[in-house]
Amino acid sequence: MNLNSRSFVTQYYYITTMGCQMNEYDSNYTAQCLQEMGLQPIDPPEKADLILINTCSVRAKAQQKALSVLGRMIKIKKKRPSIILGIMGCVAQQEGWNLIKRFPDLDLVLGTREIDKLQSLLHQLVRGKTKVVSTDLDKELFTTIYNNQFFEGKITSFISIMQGCNNYCSYCIVPYVRGREICRPPGEIVKEAENLIKQGVKEITLLGQNVNSYVWRDNGEIKFSDLLRLLNNVPNLVRIRFTTSHPKDLSNDLIRCFNEFDRLCPHIHLPFQAGSNKILKMMNRGYTREQYIDIIQRLRSARPDIAITSDVMVGFPGESDEDFKKTLDLIQKIEFDNLFSFIYSDRKGTVAEKMPGKISESDKITRLSILQNLQKEITLKKNRMLVGIDTQVLVEGYSKKGKQFTGRTRTNKIVNFLHENDIIGRLVQVKIDVAYINSLYGKVINSI
Ligand code: SF4
Repeated sequence: MNLNSRSFVTQYYYITTMGCQMNEYDSNYTAQCLQEMGLQPIDPPEKADLILINTCSVRAKAQQKALSVLGRMIKIKKKRPSIILGIMGCVAQQEGWNLIKRFPDLDLVLGTREIDKLQSLLHQLVRGKTKVVSTDLDKELFTTIYNNQFFEGKITSFISIMQGCNNYCSYCIVPYVRGREICRPPGEIVKEAENLIKQGVKEITLLGQNVNSYVWRDNGEIKFSDLLRLLNNVPNLVRIRFTTSHPKDLSNDLIRCFNEFDRLCPHIHLPFQAGSNKILKMMNRGYTREQYIDIIQRLRSARPDIAITSDVMVGFPGESDEDFKKTLDLIQKIEFDNLFSFIYSDRKGTVAEKMPGKISESDKITRLSILQNLQKEITLKKNRMLVGIDTQVLVEGYSKKGKQFTGRTRTNKIVNFLHENDIIGRLVQVKIDVAYINSLYGKVINSI
């Protein structure tokens, strides 16, 4: 890409700050857009012609991290002013021009639904436009890039099936920064899966803020369960997962899919957020604890081996000791396989930001630690129940320690093991010998 006054843009440095899986998907999509334009990745950022920072604002900590990375990149740009410095993702969407006002070294602010405009926006900067802010949330979703090499060597991949959310939970920024729900056509999703499989991907995770509200209307209706059926028939796709589901939209139809579709893994991530009906109501979650427990019972009676993970928040405004005890009680009753637990933080512009009864930081930290200790015991107990059992593992690569292979069970538990041959990408049967909180260790008894 010829950049006139900015000389020649050939190399980009791309950094994703803390973020969710949707953020990771966007990062891959953006990297493909840049490579389609002929740009190549480079590290360190000092050598790049373009620096792009992908950000998340779902929690205060993620937003702080994004701004601290931006500060570091600004220092680099000050030394080499010809660098194009851009920010994208939820922080960019939320703040728009305010970011340029606050950080005049920024050249580009790219909203969450504007990634496919990247090429034309960069050209505007090249042609001399000094600042570009593009944060339209009303447009259609971006189309897929069918790059035939980008995912080579990867065993698992995400596919975004929808964007945005219509639920407006009172604490959540997502509907404001990702817009209202918009679904992708099923044909495009299947084509993306086929393209990934051609590159060697074996497992896909369907992504959306609320996947079970997926619906495509065009001469009839394709619901999420119909989409799963279509994908279950894609040749050579070994495993299908999805995330995230909302309890209020979890239908019996979807529960049946766990028995009907052999490639659909028996694992569901179903955020419950709080165990007290008072707090659930204030959160605008649309279900009660009793309804949540009922869904779990239905899931477990349909599929007894299903793993259930969840998100929970502590310190929501007005959360009393009694409310918190109800959250602990729900955790004990359900015995989740794993829990992602967070401290409530005010998100600008949400309903909860204005609620009275804010909980002190020290109380939030104490509650989080009590909750996490309880869950650690449950996770360890559940993992220990797998010792001595043979389980199917899809080998994804090497473990963090480097000398062992790592993969996941169909129930999404990490398994590490030693093996003399390179078996990455293969399905193996592993006998579990040791259980830890975050992983299992075993030995391969055969390859499938
Ligand atoms: S369902 Fe609620 S928490 Fe999840 S993205 Fe939508 S508004 Fe946010």
